[in-house]
Amino acid sequence: MNISSPQPSLKILILSTPVGALGSGLGGGVELTIANLARELQSRGHRIDIIAPMGSDLGDLSMIQIPGELQLTAQTQENAASIVMPGNPVLANMWAKARAIQADYDIIFNTAFDWLPFYLTPFFDLPIAHFVSMGSQIAAIDAAIEGVAIDFPGTIGVCTRTQAETFSFADLCCVVGGSGVDPAVYQYCDTPADALAWLGRISPEKALEDAVAAAERTGIKLKIMGKIQDLAYWEKIQCDYPHAPIEYLGFLPTHELQQALRNCRGMLMTPRWIEAFGNVAIEALACGVPVIAYRRGGPAEIITDGKTGFLVEPDSVEGLVVAIDRLDEIDRSDCRHAAETVFSQAAWGNVIESWFYRLVG
Ligand code: UDP
Repeated sequence: MNISSPQPSLKILILSTPVGALGSGLGGGVELTIANLARELQSRGHRIDIIAPMGSDLGDLSMIQIPGELQLTAQTQENAASIVMPGNPVLANMWAKARAIQADYDIIFNTAFDWLPFYLTPFFDLPIAHFVSMGSQIAAIDAAIEGVAIDFPGTIGVCTRTQAETFSFADLCCVVGGSGVDPAVYQYCDTPADALAWLGRISPEKALEDAVAAAERTGIKLKIMGKIQDLAYWEKIQCDYPHAPIEYLGFLPTHELQQALRNCRGMLMTPRWIEAFGNVAIEALACGVPVIAYRRGGPAEIITDGKTGFLVEPDSVEGLVVAIDRLDEIDRSDCRHAAETVFSQAAWGNVIESWFYRLVG
């Protein structure tokens, strides 16, 4: 650590998710979270290195690529699931690398929602800030997180209060927010077309079918963007709603994503699970796009009902339809304003930087 300046610059090692290469979309929101945080902290003079699975690419950011087999995503597993490691696990390889180079850093920022990083915490010589980006999924992982929360107070960061409350040790978690957007990357649009958007991993916990049902009921086109994580699920939706006015645009890079998103009247968020945060919500706000979301999990803490969108009864397609009809009541500049202030990359950088300083002491 450089202690000569009033705000010492830190050497920060970020450990990526082991479920996919950065840039692949398999990691979900954590990919954007890592990219935005790394850029923000770097612009403040901190040194950032990222350890990530082979094939990871975040353009300008320094990446230590690690070979090995990917981990299964936690959200597809039962609560009683055992911890599974493949023969040559990228997760273990990433943490072995971190251990080998730890002397070069002040702090590790862990973004993997998996058992191993929590188990390994006492074996490291430097503080580990664990960014927990999902609610309770697997009992064995919960237990590992709880052990760290007790033995290393203040090191468990969660995105939202609702997410924390899915864990029996909610009071031991620090709510540090889920992400922040760079408003310069998203263009504000006040004159959208008559279309709606849905963004995210196409996977059952996201309940895309509810948004498609709402599009069918209203007749308003639904533009769908995101990684198809579960092909059978996606094909079933298309079979179940053959006449819904939907258009799949693919998994788009941020620049193209915001071009399509900003031209929509509203974005639908229909999570069946307790979404820890919901990066897509703050990306929509940055474009001036109001968000209609189920009153459940992270989106309910991001959206101000009646001002930056509408919160509707969970799992109610009827609720979505009623809210779509009210979209014109929202002043889109209020959405953009929320992204420029509360949910900006700079605001989130302040929170995370203070957290790191606290842990580094
Ligand atoms: N996303 C993307 N391209 C797309 C659709 C989505 O890059 O075409 C990204 C989006 O920017 C967001 C992520 O996918 O960062 C989804 O994250 P979110 O936090 O909403 O949900 P998660 O996948 O983490 O459950």
